[in-house]
Amino acid sequence: MMKIVGCKSFSNRKSSDCLILPFFQQEKKAVPAFSQKKLEGFFSKPLTLGDFTAKTAEILLFYENGQKEERVLLLGLGKASEFTQEVARTTAAAACLALRNKKIKSASYLIPELALIPKKDFLRGITEGLFLSNYAFDKFKVEDQRSSLLSVVSLIGAEPKDLPFLAHDQIVAEGVHMSRDLVNDNADNITPQKLAEVAKSLEKLSSKIKVRILHKKDLQKEKMGLLLAVGQGASVDPLLIIVEYRASSPSDHTVLVGKGLTYDTGGLSLKPSTSMDTMKSDMAGAAAVLGTMRVLALLDLPLCVTGVIPATENAIGSRSYKPGDVHRSYLGKTVEVMNTDAEGRLVLADALAYSVKKLKPSRIIDIATLTGAVSIALGEEIAGLFSNEESLVKKIEEASGRTGELLWRLPLHGDYSEQLKSDIADLKNIGNGKGGSILGALFLKEFVEKIPWAHIDFGSSAWLAKPKGYYTTHATGVGVRLFVEFLESISQKK
Ligand SMILES: [Zn+2]
Repeated sequence: MMKIVGCKSFSNRKSSDCLILPFFQQEKKAVPAFSQKKLEGFFSKPLTLGDFTAKTAEILLFYENGQKEERVLLLGLGKASEFTQEVARTTAAAACLALRNKKIKSASYLIPELALIPKKDFLRGITEGLFLSNYAFDKFKVEDQRSSLLSVVSLIGAEPKDLPFLAHDQIVAEGVHMSRDLVNDNADNITPQKLAEVAKSLEKLSSKIKVRILHKKDLQKEKMGLLLAVGQGASVDPLLIIVEYRASSPSDHTVLVGKGLTYDTGGLSLKPSTSMDTMKSDMAGAAAVLGTMRVLALLDLPLCVTGVIPATENAIGSRSYKPGDVHRSYLGKTVEVMNTDAEGRLVLADALAYSVKKLKPSRIIDIATLTGAVSIALGEEIAGLFSNEESLVKKIEEASGRTGELLWRLPLHGDYSEQLKSDIADLKNIGNGKGGSILGALFLKEFVEKIPWAHIDFGSSAWLAKPKGYYTTHATGVGVRLFVEFLESISQKK
């Protein structure tokens, strides 16, 4: 992980590969976001010529002799009136990527003095943007084709007291990176068993973490008929992974459930190959939960949290579960499987019902790449949020507002449940094809009873077709920062 340090004054800065100078845009012209008069010689030309106008995330890199840096990067922050923590994040990410492209290792960022938002907010945005964008996944490339990462960034104008969140945010970013690594890697490597191993490794980080694994025979004993059905076609066994973090009284207990479909072919209701090539990402919910549990272990937050991951592959073969068959869930309700590709809700149904019955949760939040329909509704940068509890929605939306992981609440419209009625079983696993994300959520609702519950469908934002901003690879790691922010808001209320 890159090192970020504070440096009190411009004249005291250490030598580095590049000096980053931020600018705001005013009447289509760039104006410095700092008041260092002696720097004007550096940038007067590109400004007078109009080559740089400080549009948001605009970059101009050029070369200087005789300074503590040989390169100067002009960074556009957009209009001062529109500058937010998220803009600080995305523009820092743009600078980071420009430097990484030139294989630059170190930089000094003269922080904006003339921003209209509190200093701690934009500083935090800058550091988060740097941490999150300094990530690559290229272990499958030959060594000299691998991307370069920044090693150190010095923030000029920031003292250590301005950066109290630095160690914290580094741990959170490492959780995001871990989650991205799990999603980006081969499905043949990230099996249910590998997810269990990763979960188990968290025990080494904190004595407050305990991991339990329910193996196939345990799932049979517990009668988790839906998880077993989805997993029966695969060469690897399904598992239920339970990661307990106990650092406060269990009277307030959050359960996070993450969908862990380590590969989803669709099963016998086979996906077309054009929508299968991203299906190693169908365990992104599990990756978000594991990343979050890692952060909790390292931050030692006073919380009681359990991560629950139903992990399996949805494979196609002679043993695959079959469209039209009925399976009995852990809760006892039977489900007629009309489409084997609507498998996420099946494994989650057993995990949710198990959590309700065995873990005495105060609240449950599940996160899942549940439907493609959510990206039809919201596009690929926004996840769908469903909930049966207003106060939970409010807290999750507040957390999302802080971290920039976008959510939009969608309705649990009860009338649509009619579509889940089956002639021969208690439920069907799909509706009539419209409002697919809502139907998925309504199906899950059947298994949570009266517990305050929220469902995050990030079939959209877990995986971007094209990396963007501080999401530097297809796997975004969305969910980790959101959960940590949410959980911290709960722990502070206590
Ligand atoms: Zn599926």
